[in-house]
Amino acid sequence: MEQKFVRVGIFWAIPDEEEGGWKFEAYQKSYPFSAAKQLANEAGLIEYPFSHFDAWEGKDVPFDFYPRGRIAYDVECGVHRIFADECLDLDDLDELFDFYDIEDATIHPDKSYVSMFAKRKRGVPVPKLEYRILRGRDKIGENLIEITSGETRVLVELGKALDGGEETSDMEKQVLSTKYDAVIVSHYHADHAGLIGQKRDCPVFVGAGARRILDMMSAYDGKTLGDNIKTYRDGQPMWVGNIKITPYLCDHSAYDSYMLLFEAGGRSLLYTGDFRFHGRKNGEKLLERLPKHVNTLITEGTNVGSDKPCFSERELEMRAVELMKSTDKPIFILQSASNIDRIVSFYRAAKRTGRIFYEDVYTSHIAAAAGGSIPRPDFFKGVYAFTPRRVTGRRREMLFEIENKRGIAGISKGDQYVMLVRPSMTAYLKKLAQRADISGGILIYSMWSGYREQPSVKQFLDAARELGLTERTLHTSGHASAQDIEKLKLHVHADETVIVHTSAEQK
Ligand SMILES: [Zn+2]
Ligand SMILES: [Zn+2]
Repeated sequence: MEQKFVRVGIFWAIPDEEEGGWKFEAYQKSYPFSAAKQLANEAGLIEYPFSHFDAWEGKDVPFDFYPRGRIAYDVECGVHRIFADECLDLDDLDELFDFYDIEDATIHPDKSYVSMFAKRKRGVPVPKLEYRILRGRDKIGENLIEITSGETRVLVELGKALDGGEETSDMEKQVLSTKYDAVIVSHYHADHAGLIGQKRDCPVFVGAGARRILDMMSAYDGKTLGDNIKTYRDGQPMWVGNIKITPYLCDHSAYDSYMLLFEAGGRSLLYTGDFRFHGRKNGEKLLERLPKHVNTLITEGTNVGSDKPCFSERELEMRAVELMKSTDKPIFILQSASNIDRIVSFYRAAKRTGRIFYEDVYTSHIAAAAGGSIPRPDFFKGVYAFTPRRVTGRRREMLFEIENKRGIAGISKGDQYVMLVRPSMTAYLKKLAQRADISGGILIYSMWSGYREQPSVKQFLDAARELGLTERTLHTSGHASAQDIEKLKLHVHADETVIVHTSAEQK
């Protein structure tokens, strides 16, 4: 019977080192002949609907290294056409004829693209891996790093200056308008991901959990992230041009944070993003997974030159239990809504002391976006949402998506609770104090001490004191101690180490 289908697709040809010849990574789609005319593009071709870039996402196929090609169908001439890398000819592609179930095709060199493989065969030198630190050498946060290899150009991080307000600095304008092959972001903190919604001209990669949280944060602000936001996976190498990138999940005060290993042209660079070894994740296990030698280590150095306390989250939980036992009055926690590990620590302490746990709607949704074992209303007993003010629009919808919530009247009926608060909740705290006597309660300050200088934080702390709350500090850094940075350095044996994300003096 006559063939009823047109088959189109894309492929990579990967040299078969054992048997010789080629192995193929190929994708196909078939269309009935009857629909062929309507499907043709302006050139009269039916093409595979996805690009190599789409198919490659998340897979260990060197996007630009191996020769690639595509099979289209020419409706006018009734023939399959293969557009392929200059180093491939029809004899090389025998196996593909079976895969696509086609009998004949014409081959055309793809003029717009020559693989690294073909260039190397021609004797073109393989480009090296190079980096340029655009910002972050003398500041805590706001890293912007360019990593290049030949024509491939990657931007690492897309942070916003923390003291820049709504202003976009010249450096930020520059990276937003520069053409990159991809942007790779280590975690969702604003000093690493704050500009993510503004870069739409290339793929931007983050971890899947970080993406869910960034989505939630934009939804809360009535915005949407672009569909160029893609995800990478822990331990799964991916390729951007000829740069191989491997993410390694690490512990930090942001959920789903990664270290990133870049490799090209026989050289390697490990960028730590923000990390610590004293969190709930096992630092030793991460060290075992990392390479034992890299050419360049770019490490964060927030705590270099400081003696900040770096005790564990477990230790913090124990100290929180003691504080919660010390009074029968309410406990308020001033912490970042996106510090998921800290929510877990205080929730566990609340549970152990028989206290109800209140999260505001925003925090509840962040916890829900993180998912899994993260305490949140509707999934955890004794956890309720509250809203510190009347909300409208999307925020109101988000409030009603939660079933287990309590209003101020319900909350005021009891004293045995732990409530997560933020500096914007001064008025709410005062309202609570009008309904029930909260004096004698404790306000736990659980953030970086530098935030005390911010006017909104100052105002909140003053109000809490006036309402009779005792302030206690209980915080441990989200960043590695100076000793743990040394430990990492010893492990990865870098030829060269660069410290970013630091206020320490550097040579
Ligand atoms: Zn940071
Ligand atoms: Zn961070």
